[in-house]
Amino acid sequence: MVKITFLGTSAQIPTARRNHPAVLLTYEGENILVDCGEGTQRQFRKSKLNPCKVTRILITHRHGDHVFGLPGLISTFDLSGYNRTLYIYGPRGIKKFLDEFLALKYVKRNFQIKIEEVGGTQGCTPNNIQKNIVTRGRKFFEAKDFYLEAESMEHGIPTNAYAFVKKGQRRIDRAKLKKSKLPSGPLLKKLKEGKDISYEGKKYLAKNLTYSEPDRKVSFVIDTGMNKRIIPFVKDSELLVCESSYDEKLLKKADEHLHLTAKQAGEIAKKSKSKKLILTHISQRYDKDIKGLLAEAKKVFKNSSVAEDLDSVEV
Ligand SMILES: [Zn+2]
Ligand SMILES: [Zn+2]
Repeated sequence: MVKITFLGTSAQIPTARRNHPAVLLTYEGENILVDCGEGTQRQFRKSKLNPCKVTRILITHRHGDHVFGLPGLISTFDLSGYNRTLYIYGPRGIKKFLDEFLALKYVKRNFQIKIEEVGGTQGCTPNNIQKNIVTRGRKFFEAKDFYLEAESMEHGIPTNAYAFVKKGQRRIDRAKLKKSKLPSGPLLKKLKEGKDISYEGKKYLAKNLTYSEPDRKVSFVIDTGMNKRIIPFVKDSELLVCESSYDEKLLKKADEHLHLTAKQAGEIAKKSKSKKLILTHISQRYDKDIKGLLAEAKKVFKNSSVAEDLDSVEV
């Protein structure tokens, strides 16, 4: 089970209702934090989650609302005896930025941090944007049963969208197995690993007795103007978490500031054939009333909702 917890759902300026951006994805022993706005560690506490269990941090870009929580979180790690290597991933330029940021004398630490620059780098240059060069999503981390991808977005500075993909498992086809009369035990384990087996002189092919579940993808598109790379990157997401800083009346403003409207988020969900859309990065101008934003997205893509701080959802 993959669990997503919205720790902060505001845009640049937080409100009493919404904290700065941060989303936590939990799967088995992995706790992957996407962005770390100011106050994120308190949001962990409010969610009754332990911030020190974070294994990886994916930074979309270095605007303050997405990174100002890092020094505080890292100080807490240090005070709490965090004893593993913390992996931080981000777009081009993030290493220099974080090295300077973390060199601040008051951020003490006794554990290792590894910073990696990931995602398509071509997409960000003005030349390539002009030529509409479409870069492919780039896998930057792979574990036994999931992997992580990043893709360049368009937000004025290097910015990534991210995807967590849980690999579909190979499963035994029980009906076919029954017919085959194979005994349960180590032979079935081999079939599940995709290996062909022999039993009582007869050969059994894994492809005939097993099937693969589809991959399950959770995508995060946070801070970007509309661009051609979004839809291929988030294609077939089980859950698409997408920024929605503006409504359609402010489309011009959204274009100027390289952000998305709720309607555009709905269109991305629809065109990418995603199953569920959750809007986040909500401007303070909608703090009292988000009905309009939600209606706009729902008009295009029915299975839409707006995230509230501390909401969680299982995928
Ligand atoms: Zn932002
Ligand atoms: Zn931004």
